[in-house]
Amino acid sequence: MVIIMLGAPGTGKGTVAVLLQEKLGIKQVSTGDIFRKNMKEGTELGVLAEKYISKGNLVPDDVTIKIVEDRLDQPDVENGVILDGFPRTVKQAEELDKILAKRGKKVDKVINLTTPDEEIIERIVNRRVCSNQECKAVYNLVLNPPKQENLCDKCGSKLVTRKDDTEETVRKRLANYFEQTSPLVEYYEKQGNLLTELVSKSINKLGKDVAEDVVSQLKKD
Ligand code: ADP
Ligand code: ZN
Repeated sequence: MVIIMLGAPGTGKGTVAVLLQEKLGIKQVSTGDIFRKNMKEGTELGVLAEKYISKGNLVPDDVTIKIVEDRLDQPDVENGVILDGFPRTVKQAEELDKILAKRGKKVDKVINLTTPDEEIIERIVNRRVCSNQECKAVYNLVLNPPKQENLCDKCGSKLVTRKDDTEETVRKRLANYFEQTSPLVEYYEKQGNLLTELVSKSINKLGKDVAEDVVSQLKKD
């Protein structure tokens, strides 16, 4: 089973993906996490990715596609994967289709998360992430605060703000999303595997509610 998380930054892709990982027993693979890990370790990839990420731009397609292709050949994702943050361009989506076809697989479901813009900014500015690379839990100071201030509920590590979570970078990331990533909604709509979910406090629907919806929808398919 190949599931894709689609949606603008701050719509809750990571949160929903982690919940789905637990509920469905298949692994989440986040390109953003892969880049951040490499940036922290100062690898060649990390140095390159940082140049783009710090400005709120996308990492070039050829680099990103290669990473995902290699990752999909690891044994832990043989039976299923939740791709979180990939694809993000039409080129990436086309290449992914080819990569999967070569392995006798296809994209089974695309979860498209939508959230009003003003809520997105508020959400990202209040986002805190666990500094433990093995844990990576995500919190929100308003919507989903940790039990103890600045400490991860799951592992007790310190919570930090992502470097690219400044208002200026968020605006740039949103603009890039609408320009480069949003055409994928139509791309997958045509393939017939799109499931759109509104994530918004205005309708009292957050990540965990969406994850439950998705699981019951998948059971019906
Ligand atoms: P968000 O969805 O909140 O922007 P991510 O962790 O998914 O967070 O991504 C962080 C950054 O990593 C992006 O802003 C982008 O620069 C880079 N990135 C992640 N995935 C991709 C991708 N598929 N293609 C190009 N760049 C990517
Ligand atoms: Zn943690």
